[in-house]
Amino acid sequence: YDLRNLTLLSHGSLILAWTFLRVNQRKLDLVSWPPTGIFKLAAKLLGLDSKLEKSLLIPFREIKVECTIPKDDGTLASFVGFRVQHDNARGPMKGGIRYHPRDEVNALAQLMTWKTAVANIPYGGAKGGIGCNPGELSVSELERLTRVFTQKIHDLIGIHTDVPAPDMGTGPQTMAWILDEYSKFHGYSPAVVTGKPIDLGGSLGRDAATGRGVLFATEALLNEHGKTISDQRFVIQGFGNVGAWAAQLISEQGGKIVAGVKGFHGGDPIDPKSILVEDCDILIPAALGGVINRENADDIKAKFIIEAANHPTDPEADEILSKKGVVILPDIYANSGGVTVSYFEWVQNIQGFMWDEEKVNNELKNYMNRGFKDVKEMCRTHDCDLRMGAFTLGVNRVARATVLRGWGA
Ligand code: GLU
Repeated sequence: YDLRNLTLLSHGSLILAWTFLRVNQRKLDLVSWPPTGIFKLAAKLLGLDSKLEKSLLIPFREIKVECTIPKDDGTLASFVGFRVQHDNARGPMKGGIRYHPRDEVNALAQLMTWKTAVANIPYGGAKGGIGCNPGELSVSELERLTRVFTQKIHDLIGIHTDVPAPDMGTGPQTMAWILDEYSKFHGYSPAVVTGKPIDLGGSLGRDAATGRGVLFATEALLNEHGKTISDQRFVIQGFGNVGAWAAQLISEQGGKIVAGVKGFHGGDPIDPKSILVEDCDILIPAALGGVINRENADDIKAKFIIEAANHPTDPEADEILSKKGVVILPDIYANSGGVTVSYFEWVQNIQGFMWDEEKVNNELKNYMNRGFKDVKEMCRTHDCDLRMGAFTLGVNRVARATVLRGWGA
């Protein structure tokens, strides 16, 4: 399914592309199940009726487009772009666009719906991506690819319909290209994407927001256990935008980072696989999904796991870890700092008024603290762990909005 980067040479290779896409479609269905399983348990706890449960699961719209670009060497290359718009009961759909060969867009779109609801920001959920390896493309190839993708989806996104943002393999420059291409069709519209460069209406503090949210979430959890960041040892897996900012902000608060960045001066190299089972108090997976699974769950030594990545823990590992007494702060709360500051960026664009960084960070702290309190309240009401507390909170808010809006008959 990784073979979507196909140079279209002949009819034969087109058939090959089609075959691989069919395989990929099956993969998409398979990877959609982890949040679905948890969703179903949450729906049961909340006592949702089956019609509502079904309607909350089915995505609003799934878009799949072919993006063909000339490569720098003059050949043509074709990539598949996706945008899965999961739900819009609470507002415009919101979520990142990732450039990565492995795609779990369906599952991630659903997670965005619950995440925006947990954060209590007025959005639904979506996720998109292009099946590619961005490291193998030049900057001008990435720009052409982003522009072609935007041309194909421009009439399906918008300030009040669906607002993309960066994710793995994309960043402020990608958002600038999307904004520019979208504006050719619809006039200048900075609020159509978030995570933009500051010069184009991006928000101060957006770059660090997911990592800062992870810090605030960790502080809220530790506070409840009578601990502080400065007396904990951390392992951070992943040193992209999220992991790097989390590491910096946690160490500024006195947290001791015992494993993280590769090539750190004065450190000893460790096998990337063993990083998750290193001795520490708090493990922060901040890279790909599915990294904590039945193969390593038993060997994890951390007492707390803060899910900075999107669904890093698979359901089997969840069970093993909870039996061991490991406390897991779930992704849909722990990494919601990024989308929360995306919301502040969108608000600033619509207001035409820029906030200073202190206001952004203070508001983010308020949202993260309130989110933690709301999740804990659901844990008490339903006598459940933090993941189920977050899911029941998110699903309940979306369910209430859906019922209030009615069935559109
Ligand atoms: N990609 C980020 C996430 O998974 C941010 C999404 C956004 O800001 O819309 O939450």
